[in-house]
Amino acid sequence: MEKHLGKSIFQGVAIGKILFYGKKEEIIKRYKVADAEAEIARYERARDAAAAQLNSLYDTAVQKVGEENAAIFEVHAMLLEDDDFNDSVRNLIKTQQVNAEYAAAVTGENFAAMFSQMEDEYFRARSADMKDIAERVIAVLAGREQKRAFDEPVIVAADDLMPSETVQMDKNKVLAFVTRQGSANSHTAILARTMNIPALTGIPVTQEWDGHTAVVDGHNGFLILDPDEAILQEMEERQAKDRQARELLQELKGKPDRTKDGKEIRLYANIGNLADVGSVLSNDGGGIGLFRSEFIYLGRESLPTEDEQFQIYKSVAEMMAGKKVIIRTLDIGADKQAAYLKLDKEENPALGYRAIRICLTRPEIFKSQLRAIYRASAFGNIAVMYPMITSVEEVKKVRRIAQEVERELTEQGLPHGKVEQGIMIETPAAAVISDLLAGEVDFFSIGTNDLTQYTLAMDRQNSRLDEFYNPHHEAVLRLIATVAENGHRGGCWVGICGELGADTALTEKFLQMGIDELSVSPSMILPVRKQIRASLAGTDKNQDKN
Ligand code: PEP
Ligand code: MG
Repeated sequence: MEKHLGKSIFQGVAIGKILFYGKKEEIIKRYKVADAEAEIARYERARDAAAAQLNSLYDTAVQKVGEENAAIFEVHAMLLEDDDFNDSVRNLIKTQQVNAEYAAAVTGENFAAMFSQMEDEYFRARSADMKDIAERVIAVLAGREQKRAFDEPVIVAADDLMPSETVQMDKNKVLAFVTRQGSANSHTAILARTMNIPALTGIPVTQEWDGHTAVVDGHNGFLILDPDEAILQEMEERQAKDRQARELLQELKGKPDRTKDGKEIRLYANIGNLADVGSVLSNDGGGIGLFRSEFIYLGRESLPTEDEQFQIYKSVAEMMAGKKVIIRTLDIGADKQAAYLKLDKEENPALGYRAIRICLTRPEIFKSQLRAIYRASAFGNIAVMYPMITSVEEVKKVRRIAQEVERELTEQGLPHGKVEQGIMIETPAAAVISDLLAGEVDFFSIGTNDLTQYTLAMDRQNSRLDEFYNPHHEAVLRLIATVAENGHRGGCWVGICGELGADTALTEKFLQMGIDELSVSPSMILPVRKQIRASLAGTDKNQDKN
């Protein structure tokens, strides 16, 4: 039994087997083999097993995400059959007398490099696929069957997890996330909260833990490897207590989000994809205050089409049945990367080419998303908001493009509704000029995650800074109060959709500032409702802004 202390990212207790989620960059050991023919046979068995995995992944994916999105698994299966690829692996094993893992890794790297040099864009895009298929065969050779994560619920342990990796996991099959690196403010941490999954970071995970039983305590920030009977029993009791607390909160379903002195506030939820809507509804969310649409763009090979997006937004709007759904336009860049966009590596990605800056310079991407959003607005109550705004000029440009899209849809006879327009206030610049911005839009949504990072000049991704990173910093709170005041004076309603919105220690303060809406992870709706109902909003002059 070993106990490891880390940092809690999301509460809750999990008990289960660990699945070590290995990285593609993992160093592959090279060693000599005595019998090259036997090693080739070992490679061929692994390749066939990998192909079988891909075929079954294809079948599952067709049902879950449709044929078009599933096609990638078919392509991978075909690449695994490629004669040149297989000859290269066999040759390496034979001529250098090396192990199959090493031969597959080297072949994967060589083919990836070769594809990346090709003229044709389609073939260039296959470069990452070559590495992927080599990794899949290596995983089988190492006995790390990737599909195990989807067979039984597991504690996913990794050095670090990218948002694109996290978002692809089936949340019903993940008991907890445990990583060595990663900060409490990263997008992966936010995803864990949205998925309502206990999570820890700062735990010294190793591949040797794979398959071992562990308990994860997200309340107190520790993991116990190979727990004894007494610990298991104690943790099961903690889980039962958590269940009881959750059941007590259920009584708040259907109750108004009203303070003791009668102020009503909108309590909405943050989502990353269609699959999260179920938990918004089951937690009685009043709407969706932040749909991080960029997750639709992650973990795939090419841009989603207008129609694909339209179907997703339409489904969310329909499932929410008339409740407000605020879609944030593509906020990609920094930690959220999609290889097919071919964004350059930057010195300071958080301050770089991202979000609205990409949308304004690549209008074809932006317009396709806006068309999908406007078309979906015919099926529900959809609003749109724009991320990373710093100036009035940007908002004017964005509004012009939105008007253009609306006009084109009307000309084409495509139905659309009225789409409320908002901006995120997540840069200090936007907060300071919120009096000027208020005249341009219908609402503000304060993104406290970035607002804190930029105000304090502290990288939210850097776990070394967690001890300095203080979202309760007076500077951040003053900016929020300024934004609420300026927004109301200029006729906007004002919400908070950053993680601070779910901080129940601040709920009463926000209500007293006149905040009109809080948008939180679905699992935080009922705890925040409890806090709202126990709070006094005071006699705020802006109370009638809802
Ligand atoms: C924020 O910055 O507070 C926010 C809600 O956006 P994201 O966390 O996705 O950057
Ligand atoms: Mg942000």
